[in-house]
Amino acid sequence: MRTPCFLLSMLISAQAFSWSNHTLVTHQLLATLPQVRDAAPANVESLESFLLANEKELEGFLGQQEQWMQENLWHYAPRPQELAFKATGSKDDIRTRFAHAIRVNPNTKWPLYLQLLPGEKRRSPLIRPQAVSTLKRFDHLVSVQLVQLKAGDKASAIDIVTTAADEPDHGLDIGLFTDSNTDYGRIYGFGKQPFGNPNLEYGTQAPFHMGFYHESSLIYAVGGFLKQTYPEYRIQLFKQLSEFAFRQGHDYWGWRFMGWGLHYLGDFSNPYHVMPVPGNSTMATLWIGLKNLMGFPQGQDEAIQLASNRHTVLEDFQSQVMSQAYKEKNIQHPTIQALTRQKPARVFEDGHIVTVISQQAYDKAHYVHEVLEQTMPGKYVDNPLVEYSELIARSSLQTTVLKTSGEDGYNQLIAIITDLLGGFSENGASYVEAILSANTFQNDQAGLD
Ligand SMILES: [Zn+2]
Repeated sequence: MRTPCFLLSMLISAQAFSWSNHTLVTHQLLATLPQVRDAAPANVESLESFLLANEKELEGFLGQQEQWMQENLWHYAPRPQELAFKATGSKDDIRTRFAHAIRVNPNTKWPLYLQLLPGEKRRSPLIRPQAVSTLKRFDHLVSVQLVQLKAGDKASAIDIVTTAADEPDHGLDIGLFTDSNTDYGRIYGFGKQPFGNPNLEYGTQAPFHMGFYHESSLIYAVGGFLKQTYPEYRIQLFKQLSEFAFRQGHDYWGWRFMGWGLHYLGDFSNPYHVMPVPGNSTMATLWIGLKNLMGFPQGQDEAIQLASNRHTVLEDFQSQVMSQAYKEKNIQHPTIQALTRQKPARVFEDGHIVTVISQQAYDKAHYVHEVLEQTMPGKYVDNPLVEYSELIARSSLQTTVLKTSGEDGYNQLIAIITDLLGGFSENGASYVEAILSANTFQNDQAGLD
């Protein structure tokens, strides 16, 4: 017989991408943070070079970090001791040793490159999406320029962080579970995939990009697997690695790790990443799960389909609107203005990831759902027989919304996205400022010696 915990597992949309191109939501934030905008260009450096130059210090740092994770995170699966990073001096396997120690996909390509904004062009050697992503589908990467960098080049902090903020969707968190059919998934200590569809190419990254911290104790009692999410781990992992790299004087990797952590903060600004089924009350969710257990799975299948369609349509609309704004160089667009920084952000505290950063979109989730219901064609958001992504509706989505719900509906959608991005701007700035002030503090201390 199925355990009750299995009940709700398929209630969560398998859709695991958030804002489909994270450069769209990070560039303006970084470009208006004086500490990033005015930073000196960094020396581009390969991952191997960074790791080899800091191997001994990294061994100590990652060991202490593991201890910290075990003591401080809301939920954590301790890293198996045999994966601890050891300084051996060997160049051949240093990437793998590092990937295993931080438990990411060791096949990640980690090229030296920049991902430009839609409409942005530079006269530089370009690389293909296959050189950046381990996935077979790379969607938005085909429509933007990917510029080749090489070790020793100079790159601006804005460019490095903007590029890195999209990287975790290029394969970093794929295949990390024991049932993912990968050699590394079997040894990483995360157990079986708690939710998401393991048969979808990108489905295995879901528990790393979605975090459910605010459900009722009843929901957790029935669906304990909902606690098994790892974005807080990723944010702390990369925030601390960023601070480490800056401390060691390797600014390129300081900025790049900063961007990786920023990705998961961006995911948290999308309600579909912080609540299992926006639009459904606790009771409705439990009732659907219960009916499924009694042999009536239809309600559950429908809920999954609807959540997936709504999730995709929201991000399609956002990416169409913002890509157009960037192509037209319309920086005054409200979605871009929402990301513009005018003043320092709230002072970052570790606990904020769960208590503040993931809470904001959660509080707005039901309202976002309502707006989608009111403004999008019923076929896209209210028909469980429709697989929205098969409709090829994306490129005409803005026109469709205008036809369906007029200027008012269109503007209502812009308003909810603007509001969500405003939250991300504050949280993202808080995170970036924390990393940079830790670095300044360290430098000041060093200066005192
Ligand atoms: Zn993501």
